[in-house]
Amino acid sequence: MHDYDVVIIGSGLGGLVCGTVLSMNGYKVGIFEKNRQIGGCLQTYSRDKTVIDTGVHYIGALAPGQNLHSIFKYLGIIDKLKLKKMDVDGFDKIGFGSNGKTYKLAQGYDNFIKQLLTDFPEEEKALNDYCEKIKEICGKFPLYNLRTGDYAEKEDILNIDTYTFLTSITNNKKLQQVLAGNNLLYAGVADKTPLYIHALITNSFIESAWKCVDGGSQIAKLLSKQIHEHGGEIHRNTKVVQIAGSDKIEHIVLENGKNATAKYFISNLHPTQTMEITESEVLRNAYRSRMQNLDNTIGTFLLNIVLEKDTFPYLNYNYYHHETEDAWEGVNYTHENWPLTYALFANAISKHEKFTDSLTIMTYMRYEDVAKWEDTFNTDTHNNGRGEEYEAFKKEKAERLLDIVEKRFPNIRDCIKSYYVATPLSYRDYQGTADGSMYGIAKDHRNSFKTFISPRTRLPNLLLTGQNLNLHGILGVTISALITCGELLNIEELLAKINKA
Ligand SMILES: Cc1cc2nc3c(=O)[nH]c(=O)nc-3n(C[C@H](O)[C@H](O)[C@H](O)COP(=O)(O)OP(=O)(O)OC[C@H]3O[C@@H](n4cnc5c(N)ncnc54)[C@H](O)[C@@H]3O)c2cc1C
Repeated sequence: MHDYDVVIIGSGLGGLVCGTVLSMNGYKVGIFEKNRQIGGCLQTYSRDKTVIDTGVHYIGALAPGQNLHSIFKYLGIIDKLKLKKMDVDGFDKIGFGSNGKTYKLAQGYDNFIKQLLTDFPEEEKALNDYCEKIKEICGKFPLYNLRTGDYAEKEDILNIDTYTFLTSITNNKKLQQVLAGNNLLYAGVADKTPLYIHALITNSFIESAWKCVDGGSQIAKLLSKQIHEHGGEIHRNTKVVQIAGSDKIEHIVLENGKNATAKYFISNLHPTQTMEITESEVLRNAYRSRMQNLDNTIGTFLLNIVLEKDTFPYLNYNYYHHETEDAWEGVNYTHENWPLTYALFANAISKHEKFTDSLTIMTYMRYEDVAKWEDTFNTDTHNNGRGEEYEAFKKEKAERLLDIVEKRFPNIRDCIKSYYVATPLSYRDYQGTADGSMYGIAKDHRNSFKTFISPRTRLPNLLLTGQNLNLHGILGVTISALITCGELLNIEELLAKINKA
């Protein structure tokens, strides 16, 4: 007799969606999470009575009839989410260098074209071609459209890269850059990022763009409630240190020395971390080294600002900034010219419509920039401190970032009550990854097949889920969880239920 039908390792969005779907379909689920708080990147924390998001600033495709809305409806959480629709005529604004001009990315394809035509009146054909291609690509991903299908449908578009495509539709260099302007969303790299990544993400926000009011952790809380109501269990502060078995997994070993048995095991961890704690010889060295050798996306430096009361207006859009005219340059920063790009998110709060109480400013940071402190570990429950030098490093970087932000938002420093910084080390320690990568395994158009990770492993009862499978982000991880659940449930029946919900 097993403890559970399914053990899930990690309570990130991937683990929680799998837990909800499977418990709703009769499986007894046990989720084991190393942190005090569930949710992985959905976690929030509180400073000066202000809620701060660690990894979710806006979500796409949540209007009725759109894919994430349908899935969240099936999961029983859509009506309980506190959401705010972002500006229809410009959910993202893109700016370059020191001139004050911004370009708007709007919701609804017709409106998207209409708004950009005001800045690029000669580019109607290019904008139409762009939108048609984005829609065509999205149409080739069956689960994204909540239907079944096969890999062959998308085979011919997987090797197109975003940069080349954008330069092919127009000679207008500014428009090429504006269309790539929010590429911090997927840590875009000019000669690497496949067009399908850009398309699946951009399409979801053009369909509709939403902020979570009072923070993204509400998604985790609502899913956890569903899991409990369907008989599942979630164990916090319970790190999994071993996935044990030879021909198949028998049990997991917890840091507290206890075991948990199940028929099936789903790992929400990065595949490399999953391999590290799985000892079975069935997982051949070739598979292990393939996982280890995949590049991860770059890390992030996040500046979370608590504002003085009623000083900074709530912006119902995000602002993406590029210091140069090249939206792809951000990831290539040097020590001297960092930061070359940032995104500014105003957090939506229920207490006020006019002002916000906090801002998040996100830019890139490589793990190597903080590697000298890699022997430290710091979370809310385990804190050996990283020392004064690290604190000084964070402050110096925060002030440098603010110097750039201040050029666009001149009064920002006057509005700051306090600020808090996260680096790739913070993400490494909270998410349990090796290098604090923002979005996990980086997709590469030159070898798309290699960067698609299957939910199956060679161990018949060990499955993978999470952002490393197909696509990161709230939508991407939710769809990846359906793929994982499809290994245990009849996927056609599951999709029928979602479409009927
Ligand atoms: C800075 C930032 C901003 C983002 N902004 C957005 C946004 O605006 N919109 C959007 O859609 N997406 C955004 N994303 C992406 C999105 O948040 C992630 O893709 C998604 O939440 C990842 O979910 P996951 O389940 O794959 O993994 P994770 O959230 O990483 O969850 C993994 C879980 O496993 C746990 N774990 C690890 N090791 C162990 C172990 N040994 N034992 C037990 N538990 C373990 C971790 O503690 C964690 O809870 C952002 C990400 C970042 C980093």
